[in-house]
This record gives sequence, C-alpha cells and structure tokens, in this order.
Amino acid sequence: NKWVYLFEEGDAGMRNTLGGKGANLAEMTRLGLPVPQGFTITTQACTQYYEDGQNINDEIMEQILDHITKLEKITGKKFGDKENPLLVSVRSGARASMPGMMDTILNLGLNEEVVGTIAKKSGNPRWAWDCYRRFIQMYSDVVMEVGKKYFEELIDKMKAQKGVTEDVELTAEDLKELSDQFKAEYKNKIGSDFPTDPKEQLMGAVKAVFRSWDNPRANVYRRDNDIPYSWGTAVNVQMMAFGNMGDTSGTGVAFTRDPATGEKHIMGEFLLNAQGEDVVAGVRTPQHIDQLKSMMPEVYEQFLSICKKLENHYKDMQDMEFTIEDRKLYMLQTRNGKRTAFAALKIACDLVDEGMITEERAVSMIDPRNLDSLLHPTFDTNVLKDIKPIAKALAASPGAASGQVVFTAEDAKKWTLEGKTVVLVRLETSPEDIEGMKAAKGILTVRGGMTSHAAVVARGMGKCCVAGCSDIAMDEANKVFRLAGKEFREGDIISFDGTTGNIYEGEIPTVEANIVGEFGRIMGWADKYRTLKVRTNADTPYDAAKARELGAEGIGLCRTEHMFFESGRIDAFREMICSDTVEERETALAKILPVQQKDFEEIYEALEGNPVTIRFLDPPLHEFVPSDEADIEKLAKAKNKTVSQIKDIIQGLHEFNPMMGHRGCRLTVTYPEIAKMQTAAVIRAAINVKKAHPEWNLKPEIMIPLISELKELKFIKNIVVETAEAEIKAAGTSVEYEVGTMIEIPRACLLADEIAKEAEFFCFGTNDLTQMTFGFSRDDAGKFLDAYYDTKIFENDPFVKIDREGVGKLMEMACELGKKERPNLHIGICGEHGGDPSSVEFCHKIGLDYVSCSPFRVPIARLAAAQAAI
Ligand code: PEP
Ligand code: MG
Repeated sequence: NKWVYLFEEGDAGMRNTLGGKGANLAEMTRLGLPVPQGFTITTQACTQYYEDGQNINDEIMEQILDHITKLEKITGKKFGDKENPLLVSVRSGARASMPGMMDTILNLGLNEEVVGTIAKKSGNPRWAWDCYRRFIQMYSDVVMEVGKKYFEELIDKMKAQKGVTEDVELTAEDLKELSDQFKAEYKNKIGSDFPTDPKEQLMGAVKAVFRSWDNPRANVYRRDNDIPYSWGTAVNVQMMAFGNMGDTSGTGVAFTRDPATGEKHIMGEFLLNAQGEDVVAGVRTPQHIDQLKSMMPEVYEQFLSICKKLENHYKDMQDMEFTIEDRKLYMLQTRNGKRTAFAALKIACDLVDEGMITEERAVSMIDPRNLDSLLHPTFDTNVLKDIKPIAKALAASPGAASGQVVFTAEDAKKWTLEGKTVVLVRLETSPEDIEGMKAAKGILTVRGGMTSHAAVVARGMGKCCVAGCSDIAMDEANKVFRLAGKEFREGDIISFDGTTGNIYEGEIPTVEANIVGEFGRIMGWADKYRTLKVRTNADTPYDAAKARELGAEGIGLCRTEHMFFESGRIDAFREMICSDTVEERETALAKILPVQQKDFEEIYEALEGNPVTIRFLDPPLHEFVPSDEADIEKLAKAKNKTVSQIKDIIQGLHEFNPMMGHRGCRLTVTYPEIAKMQTAAVIRAAINVKKAHPEWNLKPEIMIPLISELKELKFIKNIVVETAEAEIKAAGTSVEYEVGTMIEIPRACLLADEIAKEAEFFCFGTNDLTQMTFGFSRDDAGKFLDAYYDTKIFENDPFVKIDREGVGKLMEMACELGKKERPNLHIGICGEHGGDPSSVEFCHKIGLDYVSCSPFRVPIARLAAAQAAI
C-alpha cells in the first residue's frame, strides 16, 4: 500500500486520498506555483491508524521516514542538521474542509542545538527563539494536550516583567528564557523532558493530527455538515516558510472574491512578522492586503497574478494562505472558499456571466443548507432609520441578531435550552465555542478580523457575526463590557447587524426576507433542472401563501388538527373529544365543520389550483384536553356535565404509549363521524372555490394517516367516498378528489401492493416511519442520541437525515410494490426529511414525485432536488 505521496506525485483529483489541502498543494506544485515542498500522509492511513487501535503501523511509519529522506533531498536540508536544518509544519487536511476543527503544528524539527544553528545562520536570533517557543507551546498543547493557558500565562508574566504589551516587543533573550520556562512547564506537566529528536516529534505530531479527527468539535462539525466519520483526515508535512523573520516577512489569508458579499475583488488580511496561527486565531488584528502594495509591491503583484491563475484554474472563488519569507512569496494552501449564502449566489451568477461555468455548475456550487440564512429576517429598516448604532465593527457574516448578552459558549447553550434568545459576546472565539455559537442568534467579538475563527465559522453556519469591535472594553471574568459609555451585563439586550457591522442597544424588530435578484436567478435555474416537485407542509392559509412565495408547488401535508390550536377554536374541539355518545360528538363536530370548511376554502384560494393534500385527524386526542381548572370548568359548563365527569373522561383518554395508541386512522375506525365531518368540509370548500374559480384544476387529496392494513383503509375510504358523493349530489355539481394514505408504519411498506389497491396516492410520513422502524420515540430520542453520536453508533440524527439502509429500504420497497399494483400512483414524502438535502437526494433517487417540507425549507428542497438531478 502506498500511504504517503510527495506533493509532486499528486493532483487535485486525488482529494479522497490526499484530502483537500494535500490535493491542492499537489495541484499548485503541478501549476509551478511557489509551494514549499512536502508530502501528504493519506486519509487511508488515518483510517488504518484507528483500525490499528490508534497506532501508526510499521509500514506507514517506514514510508513516512522514507519520505522525510526524499524531502531532505528535494530541499537540501536535513532533520536536526547542524548546518542546514529542515523544519516542517504538520497540518490536517480532510476531504471536505473543516476550518479550525483539527490540529496544526508549526516549526517542527527544532531543538536547542537547531535553534542555535538557525539563529546564527540567519543573523536573527529573535526569530529563531520565537520559533522555538511557539513550537514548544503548540507541541505541548496539540500533541501532549497540556492546556494552552499555562504558556499564555507565562508569556503574560514575561511581558509584564519587561514592561511591554505586544509579543513582538519581546527580545531574543526574553524568548530564550521563555522557551526554558516552557520546557520546565512541560516537564512539570508530562513528567519527562521535551523531545529533542525531530523524528520522534514528527510521529507525535502525525498521531495528534489523526487523533484530532475524533475530537468533540470535529465530531459536531461533521454532523452539522454531513461529513462521514469514515473519511479520515490526511496529514500534510511541509517545509516551513517563515513569516516571522522580521518586517520583510509576514503571513496572511486572502480570498479572490469577498466571502461576505461576493464582490469581485481580492479580500485579504496579513500580519507582518507573524506565523499563520496569529492570523487565524484573531489574537492580533491584521492589516488589509492592499497595504502590502506599498510595503512590498513586487510581492503584491506576484500574489495578484497567482490569485487570478488559481481562480481561473479552479473556476471558483479561492481562499488562500500565504507566507512571505524575507520578501519571497510562498503559497501554503488554496481551496474553494467558504462564503455566506448571499456571496455564494452572487459568485455563482457572476461566474456564469463571466463565461467560466455553466448554469448546472452554478446550481451545484451552492450548499442548500446555507440558503436558510437568506430566508431569515433582517432588521426592519423603518425602525432602523430612527435608531443610532452605538458602535460599528466588521460585518463578518450577514443577518440580524437581537438577544440577551451572554459571555460564554456554555451559557449560550444553557440559556437557549431555557428558551431564551441570546447573543454571544466574546473577546474572541475558539473552536471549543462551536456549540455555543450554534445556539446563539449572533456572535459579537472584540478582537479578530474577517478571517478570524468567529467570522469563518459563523459564515459556515449562516449565523450573524460582527467581529473585531475594539471599542468594547471587555471584562469576561465579571461578565460585563463597556461600550459607548454604557455598561452591559449578562442578560442585557443588544442587537447587531452582520451585513453592516452596526451594533445597537436594545431590541430591534426584524422583517422577512424575499427571493429576489441572484437568489431568484439561481432558483430559476434549479427549477429548470430538477424533476422532483416541491410541495409544502402548511396548516394555515398564511403558511400556505408564504410557501407559495418561496416556490412551493402544492401542499403535501395539511395537518388538520393544527387548525385547532388557536385559542378561539379549541373549545369546540374539546367538546368533541370529551363526548360520551355519538350524538354528543356530532353536536360538537357540527360546530367545527364550518370553521374547517372556511380554512380549506382559504387554503385552496392560496394555492390557486395547485394540489392540496389534506390529512385527516391524526394525534392522540388527549393532546388537546384541558389541564387548567378554569378550562375544565368551562368545558363542563358547555357540555352540561360536572367537573368530575369531565375529569373522568380526560382520565379515560390517558394512554401509556400514545404515539402507538388511539390515533390516526384508528380514530376514524372508532369514531367514523369525525371523518364524515372532515370529508364534508373538504368537499363543500372545494365546491365553493370551484364555483369562484372554474378555471382551476381543483382536486383535493384526502390523506388517511397511520394505515397498516388494506381493510383498515378500505373501511375508512368507504366512509369518505359515501360522504363525499352525498355532498356532491346534494350540491348538484361535480368535484374531483382523491383518497390516499400516508405510509408511515413499516407494515404498510411491506404490504404496499395490497394498500395500493385502495390508495390513489402514497405519502411517506418518515417521522413516524423512522420512529416505528427504529422502535424509538421521536419525542424522546433526543435524550439518548447524544450517547449514540459519542459512541459512533450513529453519525446523524435519523429524524433529520433519512436512514437509507433501513427506513430507505422500506421506502424503496413500498414504491416498487405500490407502483406494480397501480402504475399511476403518485408518491411523495412529508416527514421532516422532505427539507433535508441528503434526504431529498434519496427521494429523487428512488423516484418519488415530490417532497413536502416546511415553508422556509422550500427553496432548500428546490435546490437540493436540482442538485440530485444534475
Ligand atoms: C410523519 O409521521 O412523518 C408525518 C408527516 O406526520 P406527523 O409528523 O404529523 O406524524
Ligand atoms: Mg405521522
């Protein structure tokens, strides 16, 4: 097996083996760009490392050492050499980029002797000792897991002692002394001396990178971004280029287009006399790339031409890392840059207009999940015009956030779980903060630039972020900050705008977003290429209209019970539930019928002749009964019963396992009058709307939930058809309708051919189907799923992403059996999975006619459907 590749042996097509970073370093080498040479240890080696019980086996070890020798030949330098020592960086690089999630070690190969050599050779002892203290710090943190903070404390102490405020003000002597202190700290914590043999250092570092594939933040990131654990990460070992050799050196990050807005101009930042981590970590606030033009014009020009070359080569916006070592430019990385959803749309459209890519490619370039951020509200401009911002900082990731201030990621998580709306305010964020960032409505940082961790991660999440607000005087320890002469404590409300960078005191109302401009163009292309239809789950005329605006082509699920959650309506519904006799129930149902009919009329109107699937009553009835004494009394009065009689009825509705209890079609089997009333409402509404709009092709689809047996469906269908025909006859008109079923019980999948004898359509209820296939409750699974992720039994929540192996197999079987019996059977899905891109792809693959999802996910589903078809 070949486990290791020199950069010169690979290319961009070897991403699966070399990881994104390794493949692109190889490609840049092939393009003749200035890349410090090195080699890549494959992703398969990482997988093997885990298979071997977290151990690098002899074969892999041998190949790594062999490649060190090769690298020594290429560079003319040698590991641990007294004349010309080789120093390397060791970086992770998965197939899909996971910024900041895994570990990096710089300046590897240093020891006391080598520092002396490079100090003398370079005539720059300050630089040499700076490298060494950085290496000890990083190695201790990343490889040996001694906390960063011990070293930071030592640096702070040293700075205080020397009376300086910046790291760069420390002298060679200071740094030398620091290295000694660091090594002592290492020995103190680990119990042995800091390793001096570069090969030993290298193996430790490679292991640490492999290990970081499995760290908690990487696991969370993978789950959110649908990256399989089995992929593993590659490791890149690359000759160091030094950005910390003085003021003719530096390091930076740049994008070929603006990752926040998509504008076509280079956007980048750099720090003089620094190493890569300083920029990304947001410890010092960097300078704009334009300033490089006056400082080092030739380097700047060369960099611009490389940017152009790379963008033309990859035909996408590039995100690059570079280092300048004493006026010589080195490229350390290029990749398709992460960007906001807004920028993604603009860039894709611009690339089409520039003739670089096709429409199909443009559609494929956009991560459907990111669209979410565009569909979310922005601040109401009418309100905004009368409010003055109290500060302005970098607009790092667009969107609007308003909420209570919290100061730690843990608090963000905790308060959100308690139902509060929070914004996270931090000096700077670190990768450990990822879950808190996810929970918060927005992130505001005091330090760091557009490429700081907070900015990059927030953009990836589609979360509002304002970064680098240096006006804030922060006191994290006491959970308070001062800004614009005011004090803000935990729980105080602030608002900020990630599109403008403005920060406001108090709460600002927000307004809904619209699909216009580039968004509209991309959605147009998506519609052109997709074959799967997209419907929506909507229970109210308002939701239906919203979904239509967002491109829904029909309603795939109208949950009729939801119509009764409103306070004015619940009374009649409760009267129906708490009935002892058919007559009593019919009296209550007679009150419900006109309300339901009116809702259906409005929904048909909103859909303008597009399909509407109405699902009959589904949930266990006890969900609707009153618990409040006052409500119980009110109900008793309305029903002419005593309070204790009502309580007895409520008690009687109690079930041990309601989700598998008296619900769905079982309600109709016991109380046919409910289905009769609902059928009458559906048909009467259709008759009325048809009168007003004879041009519409109105054909309500009546959907029976929770069917597991043909006779069950037949029984209910008879009731529906009898009632419908009687209504139509009485009205002296004609109305078309269909009667179909949800497929949400495994038995229905197994017997789908039987069921298709009566069902005119199928719609997969994958919420219940997942629940019943796994046999765990959709309402309680959250309690133990975390343990399933931790133990790698599950990588994803099966209620979010369809379990293709099990639930998917049942779906495929049901499609096949159903269509065999009834070739024109139309089939959809209306479980939550209908708005999940990976699940949409699966639905396309198994030949469904449509997916149905909540209104705000309709654009996501449209795009995902197009990507599945392209
Ligand atoms: C389902 O089970 O997937 C479904 C759509 O129905 P509900 O969520 O209402 O049970
Ligand atoms: Mg269901």
